[in-house]
Amino acid sequence: MPRTQSKTAASKKASGQTKEESDSMLLELFVDEIKDIFWAEKHLTKALPKMQKAATSEELQSAFETHLEQTEEHVTRLEKVFELLEEKAIGKKCEAMEGLVSEAQSVIEDTEEGTATRDVGLIIAAQKVEHYEIASYGSLTTLAKTLGRDDIAKILAQTLEEEKETDELLTGIAEEGVNYEANNEQEA
Ligand code: FE
Ligand code: FE
Repeated sequence: MPRTQSKTAASKKASGQTKEESDSMLLELFVDEIKDIFWAEKHLTKALPKMQKAATSEELQSAFETHLEQTEEHVTRLEKVFELLEEKAIGKKCEAMEGLVSEAQSVIEDTEEGTATRDVGLIIAAQKVEHYEIASYGSLTTLAKTLGRDDIAKILAQTLEEEKETDELLTGIAEEGVNYEANNEQEA
């Protein structure tokens, strides 16, 4: 069951507004941001299989495969958040994620199949995506707490951890091999 809102928002309200008004504006912003990340996650479930297919190393392929499964779970968790907010699960187009995904597509177009250089480019593109998600989930987790919704904060924090882990995993793949391999790669 949704909890009632905390009193903290009331103490921070802008002068001249009632508690309800200030709460509902912030809550509205919060719901809007949830719609943005919901659209973004769903967009990623379509992009990740393409990135997996394009990757050269098995390690990167399996990282994308694992993260696709996690991303599907992120969508499910957000559906749960909508439910807790008593809102319809509707996405709002996220221009940033659309742009990041089209950059990943450009990497695939601009690099040669079967090269470590392509993997380097894919890792850069994927880490930009993860950092966008980390920023989103980090802010939204904090905001959920401000709104007195620890139930929602807990769900968002779970996803935040997985995005951070993925980011670190990608750093590892780059630093432990792919970058060096690419550095020794000559043009055909
Ligand atoms: Fe995600
Ligand atoms: Fe992610």
